[in-house]
Order: sequence, then C-alpha cells, then structure tokens
Amino acid sequence: MALKITDECINCDVCEPVCPNQAIFQGIEIYQIDPARCTECVGHFEHAQCVEVCPVNCIPLDPDYAETPEQLQEKYRRLTGGDA
Ligand code: SF4
Ligand code: SF4
Repeated sequence: MALKITDECINCDVCEPVCPNQAIFQGIEIYQIDPARCTECVGHFEHAQCVEVCPVNCIPLDPDYAETPEQLQEKYRRLTGGDA
C-alpha cells in the first residue's frame, strides 16, 4: 500500500530527501507521494522513512492503493532493476 500525505503537511521539506524511491515531490500546495513509486520502503528499509521523520504525523497508508508485501517487493524490483 502506498502512503499519502494529508493536508496537515506543513511543507517542512524533511521527507522528500529521505525517500529511497524518489516518490515524494512538492505539489501545488503540499508535498505529495507518487503511489507508483512508494513501496512503503520495502526493499530499502524496515520502516517507512518519511513517517519516521515527519514532525506532524501526516503520512498515513493510502487505502486507495492496497498492495500485498509481494506486490511491494515486485514494485521495488521494477524500480531498482535489481533483485530483492
Ligand atoms: Fe518513500 Fe518510503 Fe515514504 Fe514510500 S514510505 S514515500 S518509499 S519514504
Ligand atoms: Fe509535510 Fe511531513 Fe513531509 Fe514535512 S515531513 S513536508 S510535514 S509530509
């Protein structure tokens, strides 16, 4: 399941550089997550890096993008072109 950034985001900029998949980008008003690139950090880290650094806890799971652990691994492989 990809994560999403809610409108509680204060544009503090700390999440964007910690994402290993370059899934986070500055939107028109707040930061956004590209669900095609978010693996919940599967393949890179044990915990979602953006969630760990966000000072206002505004990055929940996005139920619109339900994925199994296997699908997240597959997305990781596709994004990195490597084996997981
Ligand atoms: Fe990037 Fe990981 Fe956050 Fe997804 S959970 S947006 S991959 S830092
Ligand atoms: Fe917004 Fe949280 Fe990212 Fe800061 S860390 S830009 S508050 S989503």
